[in-house]
Amino acid sequence: MERDCAIVTGGARGIGREIALALAEAGYAIVVNYAKSAEDAQRLVRDIESKGGQALAVQADVSDFTQAASLIDQAIKAFGGIYILVNNAGITRDGLIMRMSEADYSAVIATNLNGAFNCTRHASAHMVRAHRGRILNIASVAGVMGNAGQSNYAASKGGMIGLTKAVARELAPRSITVNAIAPGLVETEMTQQLSDAAREKLLAQVPLKRMGSSKEIAQLALFLCSDAAAYITGQTICIDGGMTMH
Ligand code: NAP
Repeated sequence: MERDCAIVTGGARGIGREIALALAEAGYAIVVNYAKSAEDAQRLVRDIESKGGQALAVQADVSDFTQAASLIDQAIKAFGGIYILVNNAGITRDGLIMRMSEADYSAVIATNLNGAFNCTRHASAHMVRAHRGRILNIASVAGVMGNAGQSNYAASKGGMIGLTKAVARELAPRSITVNAIAPGLVETEMTQQLSDAAREKLLAQVPLKRMGSSKEIAQLALFLCSDAAAYITGQTICIDGGMTMH
């Protein structure tokens, strides 16, 4: 059986891993992109294959335009096309604006925002030719409401939301949907870096009074990639325990 292909950037760990697993269970062939976590990526490929799925691990730094092109090419070579692109790869380099180095600002923009652009830029041509596709950008509530100490991260995630809307308008005539998910506080290695005080302060802003799980994010991703979500495009869905309410 020929399966549609889904690429998950930064798919070896955290939220990306859960999205990759959910899409694999739904029957997609998964390209697990990673930058550094080769062992995690290979383990995930084996997990997916052991459940009867298909997967391939591909190393690429998505902040690099050429490596992003190679990631897309390898996916097409392996699975014959791309139906879903999940731009999940992301980093933080927190600090107050007055002390933030140019390097920390640029690194976050390069991975989070330029990475999403690079992969979308290369994948969209294939989706346009196929007249079908789903692009999902993993943004953050920081890009919606800001967060002190995260000007670089908030700028990158706010940029992803703008990118989502512009690309959604461009690709809608080909029935390709482009949406963003803006998670709040989710239990992963990224949030394990927070101090107890910072975590308590953030949790105090969450009406549901708990952190979210990667599985909860993955279920929303799965829905937005499904046929049931064919009429949703250009949207940013906050999944944050009620932290942001519009
Ligand atoms: P995580 O556990 O730190 O995982 C980050 C992932 O990004 C890793 O798989 C990492 O791969 C990948 N990555 C980093 N730089 C990369 C690059 N240059 N090229 C390719 N992959 C790269 O973080 P997470 O919490 O799962 O976050 C996933 C996404 O959700 C991020 O975009 C993050 O901003 C967003 N998010 C998270 C939260 C949260 O509370 N956790 C909230 C809102 C939004 P390697 O290990 O191979 O480097």
